[in-house]
Amino acid sequence: MVTVDNLTVSYRQHPALHHISGTFAAGSLSAVIGPNGSGKSTLLKSIMGLLKPAGGEVRTTTPRQHIAYLPQLTEIERTFPMQVRDCVLLGCWSSVGVWGGISRSMQSRADAAIRTVGLEGFEHRAVGSLSSGQFQRVLFARLLVQDAQLILLDEPFNAMDSRTTAALLALVHQWHTQGRTVIAVLHDDAQVAAHFEQTVLLARELVAWGPTAQVLTDPNLQRARALAEAWDDNAEICHTDEAAV
Ligand code: ADP
Ligand code: MG
Repeated sequence: MVTVDNLTVSYRQHPALHHISGTFAAGSLSAVIGPNGSGKSTLLKSIMGLLKPAGGEVRTTTPRQHIAYLPQLTEIERTFPMQVRDCVLLGCWSSVGVWGGISRSMQSRADAAIRTVGLEGFEHRAVGSLSSGQFQRVLFARLLVQDAQLILLDEPFNAMDSRTTAALLALVHQWHTQGRTVIAVLHDDAQVAAHFEQTVLLARELVAWGPTAQVLTDPNLQRARALAEAWDDNAEICHTDEAAV
């Protein structure tokens, strides 16, 4: 489904991911973890095709327009004046295309998704007026209408209250049951252990990739922390790699 083959991604010649290889199987439910700055968001953006690798490649069996991607909340512009329902309808974009209209069935799919995430009655609220938990529910509703086979989530539960987290985790499980492939960047090791079968532990290089119980071990986590502590001393430019686009 997603094959990462000796992937190196650099920003201004500083590698954020170095020689990463592994496979996300079709229908798998995976967590991506690692210290701050370990390349987690860079990995998701690379799978999405948003960054040009300095070396290696990512191959996906899903066409890019059928991959759903939820960026980290801090990277999303929310001041844009748009109502909840229109924001959810944007999830239909790939099936509507530039010239298509929004059909009745798309509208009812959007309304069903809004109900599923518990935002009934909020259809005409401006997204800028929502709390971050409510806004994250809107983005999940958009993923629901997008109906993608491969779903990439970057810290989807960060700063979410426990009720929102539980509701959105239930959706993740539902996607998994439906056979979709889900890859989520997460911070909470207990949550990863409880809900995710596979885990990728990054520290710019790959520390471990496999069944969660085999990845979330003290030696692996210590190794990731030790690598992260060495980064400041290690900021040399890697001349063999091209800069990212
Ligand atoms: P994570 O999501 O694990 O916190 P990122 O993938 O966002 O890590 O970033 C990995 C490294 O690349 C960090 O050192 C970060 O500062 C750097 N980085 C990320 N995006 C950019 C960018 N657009 N320009 C320059 N450096 C970047
Ligand atoms: Mg990140």
